Amino acid sequence: MRVLNIHGVNDVRLDPKTPTPPGDADVVVKVKACGICGSDLTYIKFGGIHRPEGGVTPIGHEAAGEIVAVGAGVKDAFVGQHVVINPMNTPSFIGSGGPEGAFSDEVLVRDARVGDSLLPISNDLPFEIAALAEPLAVALHGVNRSKAKPGDKVVVFGCGPIGLAMVLWLADRGVEDVIAVDLAPERLERAKEMGARHVINAATENLRERLFAIHGSHHYFGRDVANTDAFIDAAGGPNILSDVISFIRHQGRMVITAAYMKPVTISLGAMLTTEMELTTAVGYPTEMSEVVAALPRLQTKLAKLISHRFNFNDVLKGFEIAATPQSAKVMIQFEDQPA
Ligand SMILES: [Zn+2]
Repeated sequence: MRVLNIHGVNDVRLDPKTPTPPGDADVVVKVKACGICGSDLTYIKFGGIHRPEGGVTPIGHEAAGEIVAVGAGVKDAFVGQHVVINPMNTPSFIGSGGPEGAFSDEVLVRDARVGDSLLPISNDLPFEIAALAEPLAVALHGVNRSKAKPGDKVVVFGCGPIGLAMVLWLADRGVEDVIAVDLAPERLERAKEMGARHVINAATENLRERLFAIHGSHHYFGRDVANTDAFIDAAGGPNILSDVISFIRHQGRMVITAAYMKPVTISLGAMLTTEMELTTAVGYPTEMSEVVAALPRLQTKLAKLISHRFNFNDVLKGFEIAATPQSAKVMIQFEDQPA
C-alpha cells in the first residue's frame, strides 16, 4: 500500500508502506475519500509535525472508508461497515504527527471505539460527503463558541472550507443575517450558496462602510459601532482583530478559529469600552456525532463545498490546487485503487 509522507520542508511524497498488522483493539479502514485540509498545507510548509530526525510525518485526517479488518476485542465494528474516522479521538492522532495518516490505501485505527473514534454511516451516503465530517465539526465548534442564535447578525471572515461550513451551520440554525468576508470573488459566490445573505470583498470594498450599511450602526461611548452581534475569524488576516475592536458593539462577541503564525498588535485601550467577549475555538470536543447525524440531511448543500476531486494517484496535484484561493474543499478519492 501507499501513504503520503512529509519528509521535510515542502517535501511531500507518496511512499510505499508495509501495513501494520492490527492488534486486538484495532481496526483497519480501507480509505475511500479523504479531504485536503489547510493544516495539511501548513504541516508541509513547516516540514512536518513532531517529525523525528530523519523520519516522516504521514498526513491525512479527514477520512471516510470501509472497515476491512477488526481486532478480536473491538465491539460493534464489522468488516464492510462504512465509517467516518474521528482522528482527534484516536490515540495516534491520525494525520497530525502520529505514525498513521489517512492519505493511505488503508489506515490503522488503534484502540478503535465505535461511536467515538469510528462513527458508522449508512451505506448509501457517499464517502466524499462523509469525509467532510471533520472540517464540518471544526466549523460547528466555532459557530457554537460564537453562541449565535436566530435573529443575530453575524460576520464570518474567510470563505475557505471552514468559513464556508460556518456559514452553512449558521444558516442551518436559523441565523439569517450573515455576512461573509473574503478577498476572492469565487469564494464569496460559494458563501452565498451556503446561505450568506451578503458578502463583502475586503480587497475591493471598504469593510467598515459596507458592514455599517448592511448590519446598521449606532453610537456608543463616543464612537460609531456596527449592530453585528458576533464575528467569527476563519481567515487569519493581520488586521481583522484590530478592525473588529474598532467597530464591535458593546458586549459583542468574537471567536478566532484561524491559525495565526505571527503575533498581532491590538489596542487594549480601544477594546476597554467594548466589553467584548473574545475567545478561540479549536477542534471539535463534542460536535462530531451531531455532524455525522446531519450529513444525510445536508448532503446536497455539502456537495457544493467540494470544488475539486482527484484520484489518490494524483494526490500531489490535489495539494497544488488546494493551495489556490479558487479551490474550496479538494477531495481525494480512492476508488479502483490497487491495494
Ligand atoms: Zn482538517
